[in-house]
Amino acid sequence: MTARILFRHDVATFLVGAARAVPRTETGGILVGHREDGILVVTHALIVPAPIPAGDRYVRLDEPAGLLLRDFLDQREESDPAGYVGEWHSHPGASGPSAIDRRVIHDLTLAVGDGLALIVVRPNHNPRLVGRVGTIHRGGVRVFKAEIVVFEPHRNLHQTGRGTKERTEQP
Ligand SMILES: [Zn+2]
Repeated sequence: MTARILFRHDVATFLVGAARAVPRTETGGILVGHREDGILVVTHALIVPAPIPAGDRYVRLDEPAGLLLRDFLDQREESDPAGYVGEWHSHPGASGPSAIDRRVIHDLTLAVGDGLALIVVRPNHNPRLVGRVGTIHRGGVRVFKAEIVVFEPHRNLHQTGRGTKERTEQP
């Protein structure tokens, strides 16, 4: 089973650039977006620097992440539906989500709620973005593979079909 995630093209490009900027260490942060007819739409991403950068792990502390998110959301219009939708971090190698990553999305879903994403950015391997989505199904947590679809930022998500540009290849 897969769970679809829509990713703004400029956010996907931003994440790949952030990962390439520190090719020997993992970097990461949080994802901001909203849900549209049950589909997760990622519209922004924030970098939350790790206290001790390392090549084989990324540690995301809650306090700086919470402050960055609050600052970001404070600058949005009141009508903007943007909110926290998950986590991202880079893997300098080609590997996808690790056992630890799957545990993280499992525990996060249990603690925070349904439909959050954990995205791994692989700056030099296709597909660049891979991930998992945590859902609550019949009272238990289930983790699905993310099917990531990149879209152009001007796309009106209320319209499907004519006039929309959607592409499955990633930056
Ligand atoms: Zn990882």
